[in-house]
Amino acid sequence: MNTNQQLVELATPGVQGLKPYAPGKPVEELERELGIENAVKLASNENPLGPSPLALAAAREAMGNIARYPDGNAFRLKLALADKLSVDSEQITPGNGSNDVLEVIARTFAGPGDEIIFSEYGFAVYPIAAQAVGARAVVTPAINWAHDLEAMAAAVTENTKVIFIANPNNPTGTWLKAEEIEAFLAKVPDRVMVVLDEAYHEYMNQPDYRSALAWLDEHPNLIVTRTFSKAYGLAGLRVGYAVSHKQVANLLNRVRQPFNVNLVALAAAEAALADEAFLRRAVEVNAQGMAQICQVLDDRGIDYIPSVGNFLCVRVGEGDAVYQKLLHQGVIVRPVSNYGMSEYLRVSIGVAEENDRFLEALFGVLA
Ligand SMILES: *Cc1c(COP(=O)(O)O)cnc(C)c1O
Repeated sequence: MNTNQQLVELATPGVQGLKPYAPGKPVEELERELGIENAVKLASNENPLGPSPLALAAAREAMGNIARYPDGNAFRLKLALADKLSVDSEQITPGNGSNDVLEVIARTFAGPGDEIIFSEYGFAVYPIAAQAVGARAVVTPAINWAHDLEAMAAAVTENTKVIFIANPNNPTGTWLKAEEIEAFLAKVPDRVMVVLDEAYHEYMNQPDYRSALAWLDEHPNLIVTRTFSKAYGLAGLRVGYAVSHKQVANLLNRVRQPFNVNLVALAAAEAALADEAFLRRAVEVNAQGMAQICQVLDDRGIDYIPSVGNFLCVRVGEGDAVYQKLLHQGVIVRPVSNYGMSEYLRVSIGVAEENDRFLEALFGVLA
């Protein structure tokens, strides 16, 4: 009979050292634990408006068909995305969330002895993706909470296989200007895959921002990832995708599971993509909520990291302790001590009443 430790030693070295991703606490779990109702969750950067009604209708209709396998080639969704993004549909790789795509990229290009570069305060999935394939994680220091692209380019060695960059970054909400990315891509050797994770692209309106899709033709080693989980409001269905050179997509397609996006998710994503009015409203509600929260924090003299996403890192002192106290007020936010940001908590922007609940609970706790 194996002991726990012996069972652990059966796993690959990478998996033995792996710490699993810590997701936001589900509302039902908190309500069950505390015996309360009406908890608010502002912990996973979800869309507070829910899904687009058109996506919901498409999902309901698709339910009648779930005895069938989904279209493993995601033909219709890829066509709709190709049209919207002005790329070829062969350049798109569908994912069970963009998380799935990030892991597929790591598995496709890196293994034991290889290096994967990402930034301090970079998205928590990157170290997991690197570790799971047995690659060495190379973490470059941030500047003012943001990616230091010069340090990242300088960290490239002959063993570097993949560089993960989130623009904008979660959890810090910092972002990179077009000219910075352009200069970075020019410096990185074309044998290194550069992943620009644009999970929050839809929220961006800064004049100096540009989606990395702009450089795909020039840099075949570039992969752009996007998701339906945030502004499109489909986090629970798990749909994301990569856009890349079509030969790179061909490689990713060999590694991904053949039916990695389910039938309901495919239908909903296609409908969500067409619902531009919903997307505009989601972006607008987010901008209003961000302004609301920042204004009140400014008035109270509470520090935060300015963010362009649908979330904000607020400096609260002892993050983990304040997180626990907020839970007891029925408000779920996200601790970020796992990122080395123990003085901060990340709050997702909600609708106005949810933001008020958070602010009131926070001031109560901090008082
Ligand atoms: C939320 C998020 C993702 C992925 O979410 P999925 O639900 O897996 O599509 C990817 N990157 C960043 C930076 C994120 O914050």
